[in-house]
Amino acid sequence: MDTQKQQGTINVTSENIFPIIKKFLYSDHEIFLRELISNAVDAVQKIKTLASVGDFKGELGDLTIRISLDKKKKTLTVSDRGVGMTAKEIDKFINQIAFSGAEEFMKKYKKDANAIIGHFGLGFYSSFMVSDMVEINTKSYKRGRAVKWTCEGDTTFTIEDTDRTDRGTSIILHLDNDSKEFLEESKIQGLLNKYSRFLPIPIAFGKEQEWKDNKYIDTDKDKIINTTEPAWTKKPSDLKEEDYQNFYRDLYPMTEEPLFHIHLNVDYPFTLTGILYFPKIRNNFEVQKNKIQLYSNQVFVTDSVEGIVPDFLTLLHGVLDSPDIPLNVSRSFLQSDHNVKKISGHITKKVADRLKKIFKKDREQFELKWDDLKLFINYGMLTEEKFWDKAKDFALLKNTDTKFFTYTEYKDLIKENQTDKDENLVYLYANNKDEEFGFIQAAKEKGYDVLLMDGQFDTHFINHLEQKFEKSRFVRVDSDVVDNLISKEEKRDSKLSSEQQDLLRPVIQSHLLSGTYFVQFAALTEKDKPMMITQAEFSRRMKEMSKLSGGGGMDMYGSMPDSYNLVVNSNHPIINAISEDVVNQVGDKINEINDAQKPLKVDLDSLEKLKEGKKDEEIGQEEKDKLEEVNKKIADLTKEKEEVLSVYGKDNKLVKQLIDLALLANNMLTGEALNTFVNRSIDLIQK
Ligand code: ADP
Ligand code: MG
Repeated sequence: MDTQKQQGTINVTSENIFPIIKKFLYSDHEIFLRELISNAVDAVQKIKTLASVGDFKGELGDLTIRISLDKKKKTLTVSDRGVGMTAKEIDKFINQIAFSGAEEFMKKYKKDANAIIGHFGLGFYSSFMVSDMVEINTKSYKRGRAVKWTCEGDTTFTIEDTDRTDRGTSIILHLDNDSKEFLEESKIQGLLNKYSRFLPIPIAFGKEQEWKDNKYIDTDKDKIINTTEPAWTKKPSDLKEEDYQNFYRDLYPMTEEPLFHIHLNVDYPFTLTGILYFPKIRNNFEVQKNKIQLYSNQVFVTDSVEGIVPDFLTLLHGVLDSPDIPLNVSRSFLQSDHNVKKISGHITKKVADRLKKIFKKDREQFELKWDDLKLFINYGMLTEEKFWDKAKDFALLKNTDTKFFTYTEYKDLIKENQTDKDENLVYLYANNKDEEFGFIQAAKEKGYDVLLMDGQFDTHFINHLEQKFEKSRFVRVDSDVVDNLISKEEKRDSKLSSEQQDLLRPVIQSHLLSGTYFVQFAALTEKDKPMMITQAEFSRRMKEMSKLSGGGGMDMYGSMPDSYNLVVNSNHPIINAISEDVVNQVGDKINEINDAQKPLKVDLDSLEKLKEGKKDEEIGQEEKDKLEEVNKKIADLTKEKEEVLSVYGKDNKLVKQLIDLALLANNMLTGEALNTFVNRSIDLIQK
């Protein structure tokens, strides 16, 4: 192209890309700076490459890229000393933009400016998002005149010779009225920090300052805003532990030190470098997510790696750098991308291998750090089958004595004592060492071991383990009395007959909300507690799950009221004494009622016999009435009996005291009830 001043039309198939750029891409305006700097870096790297292979023989000179602001002229300039462009190249690379199917694509991705810009190689044109006019001032390393290209954000441009003598390119943006913010140093500083911190070519913005005459003044030394060789680009063998720590602190100032790191370094079949750190993850799960920064050849792309790596890995911190992750496409496309899948699989494997190595080499350290690693590891095992396969060999179970076991070790530990009569292995666990203390103690006294499952995902994880382990069941220690937790063949005799239990039941129930508490009897030892409160494993777990998943399909369980069993130890001396007292106090009355019921029951029997073998219509009305009458009389007498027992029960302070003690042992006695209990206890002591 001859370089007299010329005018031309930018070659776009759609009428005009500029309105589209402005209209659709407004949310991500700031990326223009990243794009211009990336182009400058590319240009500088090209000249370096040309020099290294001998195709460029001149002086490379200072290759620093410079960003400058001119508040008066309202310009922002990005200058480099890279390859530059000839007039011909400007025509080829800038004027002739391939832009087919633009509008359709725009509609599809209008929320994702990254996708559009990268997809069309519109990097340079993103500068029109913030400018009225853009000027390119460039001189190629090849022979020929320097050229100046200008365009005012429509489809026409001018190109003319200019007297620039220095090799390289300056892109001068004349910022529009809506984009004045980009004239603020602090704004640009912030953007540079976000996108350009680790670019491989030095970037200067402003000058270093010094303290003089009571104020900061600029020196004439350039302020370089980036680290050109960040830790992940170096060889692991060239880095010390301290370097990894310093890099972490650079990335996340004010954060606790990480537990360990992994340096990733792959160049086949895809290129991937990076350093991942295991942070201490206790319970603030969401806060920890999405700290990994994604780079493409040291250009920052995003700090949201969701969809690129499995969800559990988003709990890690650090940096991934891969030019093979197609960064400028939508997330949904990413997830199905072949390379992305391979990369994500590779990272998962590396993370598992690293953990395994630490476990093997220094189990003590691994155990010490388990509480901080557990959420991450368990979450990974729960959500990624491949991770489960590896982690099952080093994942730990912690018991209530703070001892750690691998899954196999633990199985061996409990096999003998905790296999029930159906050959199922029963894993006992507690969610809270303090609240379930009494039950834990009882289980231990029986020779059982109790796991501590106090993590955020443990209810889910327990379900998962039950699916994975064969013939195994997890049972919380307080879901039943210790004898019933693991059902064995042997049965202890009960000192209370079923008749005696029937008398005692209404006595106890008289103090309890029916529908919430169910009285049950268990033949425990004399040493076991007289009364205990348990909560069935199944319904409790269902409720917990529905709470965790925020309702949804299992809401039925979520809205169900809590229900508890009040288990009465039928072999405890106090219970036996109460049973005797019932007989002494109201036995006569009960016997009277029983005596009155006896003939009625005989009548009922014979009436039922008459009915036998007959169809409904064959039974006379008289017979039917009689049957109803007898049934009603029996029911009334039963009610009367319960009433007698209930009146007796309500007066029995000892029964109330035992119930309160059971509630107290479960942390369920509060407020007024607790106060009443304390006062009653004092009374009882004084007697
Ligand atoms: P991409 O960088 O994806 O190729 P851009 O729109 O960002 O797309 O840039 C288009 C082309 O313009 C580049 O490929 C390059 O050839 C040329 N170019 C842009 N900026 C510069 C620069 N600073 N120095 C030399 N060439 C440049
Ligand atoms: Mg570019």
